[in-house]
Amino acid sequence: MRPSLLLAAVFWASGVPAQEVRLVGPTSWLNHSKAVVTHTIDDSTRFVPECLDAMDKYGIKATAFVSTQRPPIADLWPRLRKAVAEGHEIGSHSRTHQCKWPDTEEFCRGAYSDDEIRGSIRDILEHSPQKYVWSWAYPCGNCADRRFVQERLAAAGYLAARTYPGEAEDRHNLPGLGEFAINPYEAAYTQVVQKKGGIAKTGRTSVPELNAVFDEVHRKGGIYHFVSHPQWLDYGPDNFYEQHLKYLGGRKDVWYVPFGLLYAYKAVLAQTEARRIGRNKFSVYNLLKKNMYPVALTLEFAAPSAAPVQVLANDKSLPEKSGLTDRWDAEYFRREGNTLYVTVRPDVVLDFK
Ligand SMILES: [Zn+2]
Repeated sequence: MRPSLLLAAVFWASGVPAQEVRLVGPTSWLNHSKAVVTHTIDDSTRFVPECLDAMDKYGIKATAFVSTQRPPIADLWPRLRKAVAEGHEIGSHSRTHQCKWPDTEEFCRGAYSDDEIRGSIRDILEHSPQKYVWSWAYPCGNCADRRFVQERLAAAGYLAARTYPGEAEDRHNLPGLGEFAINPYEAAYTQVVQKKGGIAKTGRTSVPELNAVFDEVHRKGGIYHFVSHPQWLDYGPDNFYEQHLKYLGGRKDVWYVPFGLLYAYKAVLAQTEARRIGRNKFSVYNLLKKNMYPVALTLEFAAPSAAPVQVLANDKSLPEKSGLTDRWDAEYFRREGNTLYVTVRPDVVLDFK
């Protein structure tokens, strides 16, 4: 036996891979997905449970933006609690949903009070198992471009705020954003999927047109973010909403994630350091507050040996997993040829055996 083979046999016998695992770096999207699908739905209406039921059929994850002191919110909390447990997010759509067209500075100063901004956070934390409130949606799209409003939201701890631009001129239908917004407090989306509603002149319900917009974002590996109002949908597998959900769902190359957690992920990706600290040992850490940023990221490793590998995260063995990527905080690894994709929450020491 040649010495190198002998050495390999010794390593193999002791459970250490013969070849060194090399850190390539973080992947753009969780679990090396090609693209992202996120969904946001607006308003406290009796249609919210049916809307969540519909998206659960197809594995779509959403942020339900509710106004926390507007009826029938008391009837919605039980279904919202279940949604949080299943990987959806509750976002704030204020407490009372005040609107004014066109908005004025005076209106915005009053509508963006501590009671509306911080009170709605307290309501969500009190009524659900959610540990943090990451996202806001501007009621009626009002006040979204006002700096002082954005600053108040940021000061209250929100990571992102979704717009609803130009409803009266139908500009809300297809903002066309297929990536992160440059300003997360003025975050647009890709398109709406809903019938005409509110003060809009038209909606978007043509399934081929809706699907084509997704295809374009998917081709570029971007973020497909669609917005719906549950009260302006038709439910059932033969209608436009579920037809579109069915087209989006069940894809192995897509990460399904709520909106606020996606923006939390952006910060985790940008601010996490991963480095080698020993043979097949790596530290992964950041200085972010864990309650605000409880999100995993994926590190790519080159693992030329085809031998089975055990990945320890802080001395705990990670499960090997294939299947849909539809959570943002789960920890696991996946092998694809000579590559290992390891999905973990910082701060952690990884050890390959
Ligand atoms: Zn609304």
